[in-house]
Amino acid sequence: MAQDAVTMEKIVALAKRRGFVFPASEIYGGIGSTYDYGHYGVLLKGNVREAWWQSMLRERDDVVALDSAIIQNPRVWEASGHLAGFTDPMVDCRTCKMRFRADHIDQLPCGKKPSKTAGETSECDLTEARDFNLMFQTTMGAVKEEGATVYLRPETAQGIFVNFKNVLQFARKRPPFGIAQTGKSFRNEITPGNFIFRTREFEQMEMEFFVPPDEADKWFEHWCDTRMNWYLDLGIRPSHLRLRAHESTELSHYSSATSDIEYLFPIGWSELEGVANRGDFDLTAHAAASGEKIEWSDPQKGEKYVPHVIEPAAGADRAMLAFLCDAYDEEEVEGEMRTVLRLHPRLAPVKVAVLPLMRKDGHPEKAKEIHAELRQRMNSEYDEGGSIGKRYRRQDEIGTPFAVTVDHQTLEDNTVTVRERDSLKQDRLPIEGLADELDRRLRAPWISPKPDVLPA
Ligand code: ATP
Repeated sequence: MAQDAVTMEKIVALAKRRGFVFPASEIYGGIGSTYDYGHYGVLLKGNVREAWWQSMLRERDDVVALDSAIIQNPRVWEASGHLAGFTDPMVDCRTCKMRFRADHIDQLPCGKKPSKTAGETSECDLTEARDFNLMFQTTMGAVKEEGATVYLRPETAQGIFVNFKNVLQFARKRPPFGIAQTGKSFRNEITPGNFIFRTREFEQMEMEFFVPPDEADKWFEHWCDTRMNWYLDLGIRPSHLRLRAHESTELSHYSSATSDIEYLFPIGWSELEGVANRGDFDLTAHAAASGEKIEWSDPQKGEKYVPHVIEPAAGADRAMLAFLCDAYDEEEVEGEMRTVLRLHPRLAPVKVAVLPLMRKDGHPEKAKEIHAELRQRMNSEYDEGGSIGKRYRRQDEIGTPFAVTVDHQTLEDNTVTVRERDSLKQDRLPIEGLADELDRRLRAPWISPKPDVLPA
């Protein structure tokens, strides 16, 4: 059985080497598990986000968009239960002075060697677990007075619930309908780590789908299926994706059913996205706390009810990490190893690279002409630096599906070679109609050429 070459270390190294993601404030030694995104990281995460909007909004008539503020009135977090209950259990080690999330203790490395995990040796001296609130606090206004404490949102969802009435007024929608938003969320995670899997600042992609109460079960199933298919349609291998229903003991206080979409990361099966049936918990809580009537009423039918909510909540950075892990591959080509990101063409940061074979004889001029035309239709990159082999390898490492090479024959008959990233097949194609042909190939169905099997 072919072994998957991917490890987290290789992903981190590639991300750094090719400028996808690197530690934030690196020249000052970084700041705990916080990352900056470079050129290709911005493009890749942007494509993940765009694919989400495409599926959640543009391909449907029952979802509208929202962009709510990061800092809301603190009463939002009081009503939602976050101030009292958005906590993780934390333990301290009196010996090594490190802090650990109590429910992950068996996976966390201890501060003292040779102990492998926290609490493993007789020297480890752990405190009892106590609750630690994950919300970041700051103050609003010039004076640090009482009542000036505000919070950075720990999820985008509450911004949706508190705008339910506003949206009803202008959106001309009736349940079942949804409100979607993407944006940064902040959690003071006790033990962030595993690269961009768990960070303190991250981007969420959340949608709250408001339904008549008796349709909640049906829509919960719908969103579990739809969200699983989103990852599969974007090329995640089915063997590496699963839907796991929460046990009743795992359910949040507001949820009657939750299923996690999990991906088999190099660190093991881990949550990519949660799909939850939140019932009427949020709208009822905000109605009670604000004194506003938050419900759906239809005077024509004479019906009135508080909609129930189905929430698919995904992370853009975590999804990007899954796509990177699923895409990473190494293979031997003509006696040399090549590293290649077999990303779905829709997600690839650059769709086509235009490469003059030589830096003379009119090759660069012709290649720039072709690049100028292609860039109108797709993200195209021109590169003339280094040997052609090096340039191909660079494009393979950033996952560019096609490389167009201009050579001496191009100047004679207006054709170019088109090299395909996965198969390494090269075709000779006319420049005329090239953009249409590449566009057609980029839209064609794609499945990962990596073996669709579980690691041995
Ligand atoms: P976890 O159990 O991993 O802490 P969660 O169940 O608290 O996650 P949710 O509140 O359901 O996460 O958030 C929805 C999604 O947001 C997650 O599935 C994940 O993709 C993303 N997410 C949550 N916390 C983080 C984080 N600290 N870093 C990166 N992404 C995150």
